[in-house]
Parts: sequence; C-alpha cells; structure tokens
Amino acid sequence: MDNRLNYAPCGYVSITREGSVVDVNQTFLDMMEYREEDLIGRHIESIMSTANKLIFHSYFYPYIHLDGHVNELFISLKNGRGQAVPFILNGRRLEQDGAETIDCILVQMKKRLDYEQELRAAKKQMEEAYWKKDQALEELQRIYQEIEHKQAQLVEMNAVLVELSVTDKLTGLKNRRYFQEQLDSRLSGEPESGRPLSLAILDIDHFKQVNDTWGHPAGDEVLVRLGEVLTACSREGDIPARLGGEEFVLILPDTDAPEASERAERLRTAAEKADWPVGRITVSVGVATASAGDTEATLLKKADEALYASKTHGRNQSTHYNELNGRLP
Ligand code: GH3
Ligand code: MG
Ligand code: MG
Repeated sequence: MDNRLNYAPCGYVSITREGSVVDVNQTFLDMMEYREEDLIGRHIESIMSTANKLIFHSYFYPYIHLDGHVNELFISLKNGRGQAVPFILNGRRLEQDGAETIDCILVQMKKRLDYEQELRAAKKQMEEAYWKKDQALEELQRIYQEIEHKQAQLVEMNAVLVELSVTDKLTGLKNRRYFQEQLDSRLSGEPESGRPLSLAILDIDHFKQVNDTWGHPAGDEVLVRLGEVLTACSREGDIPARLGGEEFVLILPDTDAPEASERAERLRTAAEKADWPVGRITVSVGVATASAGDTEATLLKKADEALYASKTHGRNQSTHYNELNGRLP
C-alpha cells in the first residue's frame, strides 16, 4: 500500500463483494488496536455488534450495489479490546480486473460526539439561563406592578389625609385651619383690583342652654344641621367653614358691604326658619368687608366685633362692622 494512504489521517479498509477484508491501512489498525493479521481475510461484520450488522445489511449493501457508493453512514465498530468506536463511513464500489472490491474510508467520531455532548450541555445551560432570566423578568414585572399599585394607594391615601386635615369631623364642613389659609391667601396675595371680599361669622344663640336642656348629642345634631343651612345658603365660590364650638364662618368673595349685609341677614333668617331637632334655634351674625391693609386676623376681628354687637343688641340679629361706626354698611 502506498505510504501516504497507509498513514492517511483516516482509516481505510478494503473489502470484497462478500465483505472479507482484503486491505487495511496502519491508521485504522492503530486506532482500533489490531494487527493486520487480525483483520485480513476476516469478515468485516466480525468487528460489528448485531445492531450494526443489521444496519450494514439493510443500508450499506443495498446502496453500494444500487448506487455504487454510500456516504456518511454512522456505524460503530469493536476495537481490539471489544470497545465500540463510532465512525462515519464513506464507501465506494470498484471493479478491477473483473473483481469487485469496496473501499471504505472511516473517520472516527469520538471527538465529534464529545463536541456534540458539550454543545448539548452548553445549549441546556443557556436554555436554563434564559428560563431563569425570564423568571427574574416576570418577578421584576410583578414587583413593578406592586410598587405602582402601592404608589397609587399612597397618592389616594395622601389625598384622603389632606382632605381629612382640612375637614371638620362633625359637620363635614371645612375646618378653621383651611378657612384661615384661604382667607390669608386671598388677603395677602396681589389685591385683585376692584374685587371686594367679605366675611360673615355666625354664633348660635344660647347654645349652652340647648346642650343643658336636650343633651350634648342633640347639640351636635344642631351643629350638623346649621352646617347644612350654611351650605344651602352658600353660592358658588363661597367658603363655609366651622370655626370651632358653635361658631361658623362664610367667606364671601366678590361681595361688597351692602351685599354682604344682605347675605348675612339671609343667613340669619334661614336659620330662624329652618327645622331643628330641638325646638327653636336662632343665630347672631357679624359681617365685615375687607379694607386695604386688612389681614386674616383683622378681618376676623372686625366680623367678631359686629357679631358681639348682634349679641348685645338682643341676639337673632345680623350686623355689619361698618354700622358700628355709624356708617351704612
Ligand atoms: P351666646 O348666645 O352668648 O352665644 O350663648 P351660648 O350659650 O351659645 O355661648 P357660650 O359660649 O356660653 O356656650 C357655647 C357652648 O357651646 C358651650 C359648649 O358646651 C358648647 N359647645 C361647644 N362645642 C360643642 C360641640 O362640639 N358640641 C356640642 N354639643 N356643644 C358644643
Ligand atoms: Mg360662641
Ligand atoms: Mg353661642
């Protein structure tokens, strides 16, 4: 055999039409740990397992006789120690001097199988990593949603808290704090030219007697009812609030002194005519209209002085601060 074929980087085995080995190169003998005399003259199937013999019969022989060649047949052969060695086999039928031989080239597959196994392991690892990444993303998504939900809840709770902090619990009207903030911002901001502002303050007459006669809970009902009367008498933009105890206020934007007097009187009569759970209830009203330089405190004081006048003049009355100085409201 030609030296280059003898040591070619693949196995070479030549068999007869019947399958007897007639030639084999050194590379194949080395790979399989055989000596030449172990194989020459023997049937190629003697180094095959039963399963591989079946492949040979059902695939190799029919194709080699039909097409004259077989390519990339995967087969495993037993080596000198009885171990299975996988190969890729290419075979070609030749006719020489009237005799038929089949040349086979055998490339060992072990490395390739190892690579495939490594590839499969790497693929599995990658799939696992992707799966974990997907899981982590899903978890992250869930956490984001939870955070968004919590944030929305916080915003909602905050709005409720803000509302609570400016609301009078008993009557549901705005409380003293909100009233002061509103009056302060309206008086301390840029004075809007030609737009008056008035403030009315109401105090229930002889309310202590109501409590004493009908009990505190009934007194509370009166306060709630007065809140309703005040709201019913309010116009859009007005701010009714409970100042504390049995005192209520009503900020009257865009209302000058004469109109404020009328509004105060209407409040008084509305209270007088309202249905009360405890007999007759009246209120005294004081009203003042802001002049230049008035602050929240000074305007409230003026309205309070007018209220005091209503009380001292017999209650169930309304008084404008301007009347205290003998002026017309
Ligand atoms: P006047 O006509 O001078 O205003 O007499 P008054 O009795 O209404 O005034 P006074 O200030 O002497 O009494 C106010 C009463 O209001 C005393 C207090 O017990 C009662 N009061 C204050 N806050 C509440 C409340 O939230 N609920 C009830 N039921 N009573 C309250
Ligand atoms: Mg009072
Ligand atoms: Mg009172």
